[in-house]
Amino acid sequence: MLDLKIKNGNCFINGQLEKQDIGIKSGKIVYIGNINVDSKEVFDAENLIVLPGCMDTQVHFREPGSTDAEDLNSGSKAAVMGGITSVFEMPNTNPPTTNFEEFEKKLNIGKGMYCNHAFYFGATAENYQILEKLKNLKGCCGIKLFAGSSTGNLLVDKEDDIETVFKHASKEVAISSTRKIVKIAKRFNKKAHILHVTTKEEVDFLSQNKGNITFEITPQHLTMYAPDCYEKLGSYAQMNPPIRDKSHYDRLWYAIKNNYNDTIGSDHAPHLRSNKEKTYPDTPSGMPGVQTLLPVMLNHVNNNRLKLEQLIKLICENPVKIFGIKNKGYLKESYDADITIVDLNKPIKIKNDDIQSKCGWSPFHGYTFKGSPIATIINGKIKMLNGKLIGQPEGLPLDFN
Ligand SMILES: [Zn+2]
Repeated sequence: MLDLKIKNGNCFINGQLEKQDIGIKSGKIVYIGNINVDSKEVFDAENLIVLPGCMDTQVHFREPGSTDAEDLNSGSKAAVMGGITSVFEMPNTNPPTTNFEEFEKKLNIGKGMYCNHAFYFGATAENYQILEKLKNLKGCCGIKLFAGSSTGNLLVDKEDDIETVFKHASKEVAISSTRKIVKIAKRFNKKAHILHVTTKEEVDFLSQNKGNITFEITPQHLTMYAPDCYEKLGSYAQMNPPIRDKSHYDRLWYAIKNNYNDTIGSDHAPHLRSNKEKTYPDTPSGMPGVQTLLPVMLNHVNNNRLKLEQLIKLICENPVKIFGIKNKGYLKESYDADITIVDLNKPIKIKNDDIQSKCGWSPFHGYTFKGSPIATIINGKIKMLNGKLIGQPEGLPLDFN
């Protein structure tokens, strides 16, 4: 007896859509094919597309610290409502996630999350000895190195300190791009993942330095450009790195088209409207995005800006390869039953009222995207169906190789 059977769906298997049934038991995909076995629950996915669980590999959920804007529970609700089954959460919380005690605390609070999750460990100029011990730490996706941006005690900007971090890193290091850091990563033969690439110069440089160096582009940089976005949204469009002019936007799309970038991450960075509505430069940088990542990108698929199989590489398969996530990213027997079911033809209108994030707004308010998440299945259980959250938070920390 199966726990859940997904029947008649167009399933994304081996890079293409196949009409198959999927049988799920005890949180795992146990059978793919034509299934006649009984199941406690049956989901009819006729005319729907069944994808591996989609991941957002860059979110800021603000807990501990600014839980007025977001917490791990509310952020995870937003993820699940948007068809996201796993998130990688950033360490620049208050206090920051730079020691085992804080990491444990986050894992504990993470028990209240709806989606599966992993947390970045923050590098500082002093904690290099800990960085060596992260290899098999459950729920740890990598090391985040903040270099050259204003993040208080997480800032590591001296060349010596950056070298020390790379020398001792036992996991993927995620950084904001600078040539200097890419060169250091190469010198120590370490993998580095460059977050939110936004300029044509970065695209050109990074596309010539592939291999151990991978990079991310955000959905908002692929959907908005300056000065339009600032005319429409004012400081709500303010983020770091900023939304740039159309020549950069065009080069980001050139990167997508040629498979230069490796991931799409939302950089979900919620801020209260009361803070966003202050006067620049008192306004904080960042915008929410975990709930809209998938509809935004499905809309781009519908507009032939990228193929569905490219999108699945960016938000399912490549995160697995780059970070070494176990048993996820593919619809495969014995893999975890994290599944995102979408209707590529169904439009979704983004409204601030529907945003689950505590901040309660989206830069895409009023936009209609073609392509809607219909169901989010996490560890074999339907957690979102037709825009409704179901059941209790039961998200688990991810396992890494
Ligand atoms: Zn970020």
